[in-house]
Amino acid sequence: MKLHRFDGPGKVRLDDIAADPPASATKAKAKDRLAGLSDELFELQDLMWGARTHCVLMVLQGRDAAGKDGTVKHLSGAFNPRGVAVTSFGVPSVEERQHDFLWRVHKHAPRAGEVAIFNRSHYEDVLVARVKKLVPAPVWKERYDQIRAFEQTLVSAGCVLLKFFLHITKEEQKERLLAREKDPNDAWKLNVDDWKDREHWDDYTKAYEDAIEACSSEDAPWIVVPANAKWYRNLVVAETLAAAMRPHRKAWRESLEAQGKLVRRDLKAWRTAHNR
Ligand code: AMP
Ligand code: MG
Repeated sequence: MKLHRFDGPGKVRLDDIAADPPASATKAKAKDRLAGLSDELFELQDLMWGARTHCVLMVLQGRDAAGKDGTVKHLSGAFNPRGVAVTSFGVPSVEERQHDFLWRVHKHAPRAGEVAIFNRSHYEDVLVARVKKLVPAPVWKERYDQIRAFEQTLVSAGCVLLKFFLHITKEEQKERLLAREKDPNDAWKLNVDDWKDREHWDDYTKAYEDAIEACSSEDAPWIVVPANAKWYRNLVVAETLAAAMRPHRKAWRESLEAQGKLVRRDLKAWRTAHNR
C-alpha cells in the first residue's frame, strides 16, 4: 500500500494526491485485510494496556462529511472499549476560549496504556481559526511552533502519535451532504455552515497544506488518506496504526512477562511463608 505519509520538511500539494482508492485495491481484498488488522490491533492494544509504557493518539481531521465519525466508529470497534477514549472538539466554550488553545486538548491526551482518538483537534486553531479569521494572523502563525512543541511533549512521554487528513474531493463532499439531507436519520448531522465552508474550499486546502508542512516529523507524521471510498479509508487508517504499534510488540510482551515474574515471585514467597 502506498502511503501519503509526511514526516519531515517538504511541500504538500493536496490536489496532487488522489482521493479515490488506487486501481489495484478492491473492496473484497480490503475487507479480508481489515478483519486481520482488527484482530492484530486488539492484541497490540492489550499488550500496550498491560505494559503501560506507551499510549496512542490518533488525530482525525478533514472537511465536513470527510468521514471522521465513520472512522471513529470503525476504528474504535477494533479495540477493547476499556482502553479507548474518543474526544470530539467543537466550537470552544467560553471557558475554553479564556485559556490558551491547547488547554482543552492536553486534558484529553491519552494516559499510559490508552488509545485516544481525537475527532478534530488543536489543528482547528490553525484551520477554521485562520480561514474564518477568528484570530489575527500573527496569533495563528505562532501556533505551528506551539503545536510542534506540544506534540513533542506527548511523544517524549511515550505517545505514538498519528495525524490523519481524510482527503475527499469537492464532488464527493457535495454528494455526501445532499445524501445526508435526504436521509431522515442523517439530516440532523448537517449545518448551514457545512455549505458556507464549501465556499472557502481553497482557503481550507491552503490551511491544511500549511499545517501539514509545518507540523510533520518522524515522530508526529501526517497521513493524507484517500477517503472518497469508506472501505479504503478504513483500511489505510488501520494499516497505518498497526504499523506504528507493531514495532513495540516485543518490548510490551517482555514488560508483561517481567511483571508476571514479579507476581509469581510474590505469590511463591507468600505461599512459603504461610504454608499454603
Ligand atoms: P462537527 O465536527 O460537525 O461537530 O462541528 C464542530 C465544529 O466546531 C466545526 O465547524 C469546527 O470548525 C468547529 N471548531 C472546532 N474546533 C474549533 C476551534 N478551535 N475554533 C473554532 N471552531 C472550532
Ligand atoms: Mg462544519
